[in-house]
Amino acid sequence: MLFRQAIVLGGSVAGLVAARVLSDHAEQVLIIERDDLAALAAEPLSAAAARPGVPQGTQVHALLPSGLNQLERFFPGFIAEALAAGAIDPPPGTNRFYMDGELREDAPSGPAAQALISSRPFLEALIRRRVLGRANIRTVKGRAEGLLFDGEAVAGVRCEGADEPADFVVDATGRSSRLGDWLEAHDFPKPPMQRMGIKLNYATALFRRPADAAVWTCISIANPGPGKVARIAGFTPIEGDRWTMLVSGYNEDRPSRDPAEYRRRCVEDFPPEFGAVATTAEQVGEVITYHQADSRRRDFHRLRRFPARLVAAGDAVASFNPVYGQGMTSAMLHASALSEYLRGNPDLSRPATSYFRDVKVVVDAAWQISTMADLALPHVDGPYPKGYRAIQWASGLIFQASMRDQQVNQRVGQVTTMLAHPSALAEPRFLMRALAIGAGLSGAAAG
Ligand SMILES: Cc1cc2nc3c(=O)[nH]c(=O)nc-3n(C[C@H](O)[C@H](O)[C@H](O)COP(=O)(O)OP(=O)(O)OC[C@H]3O[C@@H](n4cnc5c(N)ncnc54)[C@H](O)[C@@H]3O)c2cc1C
Repeated sequence: MLFRQAIVLGGSVAGLVAARVLSDHAEQVLIIERDDLAALAAEPLSAAAARPGVPQGTQVHALLPSGLNQLERFFPGFIAEALAAGAIDPPPGTNRFYMDGELREDAPSGPAAQALISSRPFLEALIRRRVLGRANIRTVKGRAEGLLFDGEAVAGVRCEGADEPADFVVDATGRSSRLGDWLEAHDFPKPPMQRMGIKLNYATALFRRPADAAVWTCISIANPGPGKVARIAGFTPIEGDRWTMLVSGYNEDRPSRDPAEYRRRCVEDFPPEFGAVATTAEQVGEVITYHQADSRRRDFHRLRRFPARLVAAGDAVASFNPVYGQGMTSAMLHASALSEYLRGNPDLSRPATSYFRDVKVVVDAAWQISTMADLALPHVDGPYPKGYRAIQWASGLIFQASMRDQQVNQRVGQVTTMLAHPSALAEPRFLMRALAIGAGLSGAAAG
C-alpha cells in the first residue's frame, strides 16, 4: 500500500478505471463526482441513461478492442458479465461497411474476434458496479474546486468548501478540466494546450430492433473531396432490442432535432440500410444532437515544474474527434500507464514524469490517427504536423490498399483500434508493400 487515501476527481469512465487501479495501492480510494454515483449504482441496469455530468452519453459510443482488452484485464469476467446483462456481440454476417457509397464485402473489421456493443450509459453502469463493489472504494457527491498543497506535492482536494486529505490525486474531470487554473492559483505553470477546430455535429436516435433484422451494424464513411461532403453515419445494436443510430456532419452541415429532417438525412445522404431503419423501425424517444468544437490535448509532459502526487487521465489529458471512437480506450490505456507507474516503486516526492511519458505515447498515437484524417476536411485549418503532405500521401495509399489486401487491412485495423501504435504502419517492409498496392489501385482508378 502506497497511500492511506487516494482521491479521483470525476467518476466517469476514466475516473472509474483509475479508481480501480488505485484500489490496489491505497487503503482507501475516494471518488468525488458531481453526479450521485451511489444513487446511480443502486438503479437497475435496465434504467441506465445519460446523466448530466456526461451529456455525450446520449450519443453512439463504440468501445475499441484495445479498450475491451483493458476492461477484461482490470475486471476479469467483464465481457461475459456484460453479454449476460444485455450487451451485444453481433452474429457473423450482420455487419455492413460502406466507404464513399461503396459496400465493402471485406469490411475492415479489424483483428478483434470479440465485440461488446451497448449504449454508453449501460457500459458505464457496468464498470461503475464493478468499481463501487470493491471494499476500499467509496464515492461522494460534490464538485471539486481546487487542490491543497504541501510544498511541491499535492496533499488534498477542496470540495464544496470542505478539505479532503489525499496522498495522491487523479484528475479525471473530462475535457473541461480546470486543473490548469488550480495549478496556476498555486503558482505552478498550466499545461500547454493544443486544439484542432473540427466543428463536428452529431444527431442520434434510438429505434426498436426486430429479432429477425438482417443487418445489425452498419457504418458509412463519406470522405471529403471535390464536390463531396464528408459525412459519417452508423447504427449499432444496443441492449433492450434497440439500435442507436448516428448521423453526423461538419461545420455548417448540422443535423437538427427535427425527426422528419433526421429521417430525410437517413434516406437521402446515406446507404439504404439507414433509410430502412429510419422509416420502418419504431423510433424510441427524441433525436438528440451534440456539437463538439475541437479536439484538444494538454501536454503535461512538456511542463518543467509540476506537483508530486498528482496526475490527470482521460479526456482531461486529451479528447479527440469522437468519430474515431478513441476516448474510452485512451482512458483505459491511461489507467494501464497509472498501474505501471504505481507498480514501479515511484519516488512520490517527485512529479509522475514516467506516467506522463507513457500517457504521451497513447495521446500521440490517437492524436496522429484522428488529426491526420481531420486535416483532410476543408474547414479544418491546422495545426499541421511536420511532413504533413508526405504523411497524407502515404496514408491515403495505405488506406486504399487496406480495402483490397487482407494483410494491409489487418495492420491498419490494429492501428485504428489502438491495438498497435501508428509507427507499425511505417515499418519498411509493410510500408513498401502497402504503397505498391495502393499506388497500383489509384493508377488503375485513374486509368
Ligand atoms: C459525441 C461524443 C461521442 C463519443 N463517442 C465515443 C466513442 O464512440 N467511443 C469512445 O471511446 N469515446 C467516445 N467519446 C469520448 C468519451 O465520451 C470519453 O472519452 C469518455 O467518456 C472518457 O472521458 P472521461 O472519463 O475522461 O471524461 P467524461 O466522460 O467527460 O467525465 C468527466 C466526469 O467528471 C465529472 N466532473 C467534472 N467536473 C467535476 C468537478 N469539478 N467535480 C466533480 N466531478 C466533476 C463529470 O460529472 C463527469 O462524470 C465520445 C465523446 C463525444 C462527445
